[in-house]
Amino acid sequence: MTLHQKPNTLQTDSFWMPFTANRQFKKAPRLFASAEGMHYTTVDGRKVIDGSAGLWCVNAGHGRRQIATAVERQLMNLDFAPSFNMGHPLAFDFAERLAEIAPKGLDRIFFTNSGSESVDTALKIALAYQRAIGQGTRTRLIGRERGYHGVGFGGMSVGGMVANRRAFATHLPGVDHIRHTHDLGRNAFAKDIPEHGAELADDLERMVALHGADTIAAVIVEPVPGSTAVLPPPKGYLKRLREIADKHGILLIFDEVITGFGRLGTPFAADYFGVTPDMMTTAKGITNGTVPCGAVFASRKIHDGLMNGPEGTIELFHGYTYSAHPTACAAGLATLDIYKDEGLLTRGASLAEYWRDALHSLKGLPNVVDIRNIGLMGAVEVAPRKDGVGARGYDVMVDCFNRGLYLRMSGDSFAMSPPLIVEKSHIDDIVSILGDAIKRVA
Ligand code: PLP
Repeated sequence: MTLHQKPNTLQTDSFWMPFTANRQFKKAPRLFASAEGMHYTTVDGRKVIDGSAGLWCVNAGHGRRQIATAVERQLMNLDFAPSFNMGHPLAFDFAERLAEIAPKGLDRIFFTNSGSESVDTALKIALAYQRAIGQGTRTRLIGRERGYHGVGFGGMSVGGMVANRRAFATHLPGVDHIRHTHDLGRNAFAKDIPEHGAELADDLERMVALHGADTIAAVIVEPVPGSTAVLPPPKGYLKRLREIADKHGILLIFDEVITGFGRLGTPFAADYFGVTPDMMTTAKGITNGTVPCGAVFASRKIHDGLMNGPEGTIELFHGYTYSAHPTACAAGLATLDIYKDEGLLTRGASLAEYWRDALHSLKGLPNVVDIRNIGLMGAVEVAPRKDGVGARGYDVMVDCFNRGLYLRMSGDSFAMSPPLIVEKSHIDDIVSILGDAIKRVA
């Protein structure tokens, strides 16, 4: 497909699109043809600013030559190497480089190909670890309402977004959920961290009281839920969750698939909140969205706990054909170089205030019921219309796209996470197009 090919020449029947209203989309496709820096270009040649870093993944902006060159070189040099009982140096280099930027102690790296795989991997490691240390009765996994942990059976089961679960009745047995922290009544229009709700972490105590601590292997939460439209955790909430998990021997997993790699102005959300989990799941920004890749960061305690038995024994019967794929490692290393050279893992901190004030300037527009922000993440929520949840949100999203802004819509919320190379003028553009769309659609 060339840059200016018109959508009406496109055959759209065969591609069954993910997480998309296929029939609605195919009547009026929204198609990107190319991308550079902060912008996409559509097939009809319009520039569209990227308000969501693709799908929260293009943290260093689009079209990074350094990554393309590294990938091309790698493909021509070593296109594939198995990581089962064989290896290649780049995988070890990449793991070392990731360990260097990890929160202290989380420096054992297991490679996957996506966020969903990272989540399922972390859940399996949690179960295997508990068993290895003689806690084999701990088979229960705890998630949180409104959580999103990808689409594998593990991630779906601990996830808490109802539409993602409803059609697939078979969930992992024994999974339970603590309550979410979204509370418009107490926290609407809170800036950065909401004041109220730390006590909701005590829900983990409720799980312990109900099921018994000796049945619970791990609890997984997104430090800042993203797909459910950016819900910064209440003040003190994550610390309290850490304390309760420790008290009961429950492993704490942070799903940092979105918050990892600089989104909050720190390398990871664990750094931002000063709370270190036992494992961290990542993907997306790990290769700047270029080559599928994910990684689980595990503590030494967990890793070493599994390094037992005779030396010739496989310690963890788990892995993917493409774990530590050479092209993913090459892309990842080039990405980490860019993050370092351009200070992108902390750049968000210097722009967070501007971002916050810009988003909150939309307060008072018709139907706006909440605005949330943290680091370079944010969301604006509008009230649902009578014709259904998400209908107003959809109209605003389409209006934005038509006028040059791409953003993620989640129900009637607009979730934003611009590439970390964003400048103040881009923030102004994003907010002004969104504000106009909200007014037009009102
Ligand atoms: N976990 C979180 C927190 C996510 O936001 C996502 C995707 O948005 C995933 C897991 C799943 O990642 P993937 O789509 O790469 O499988």
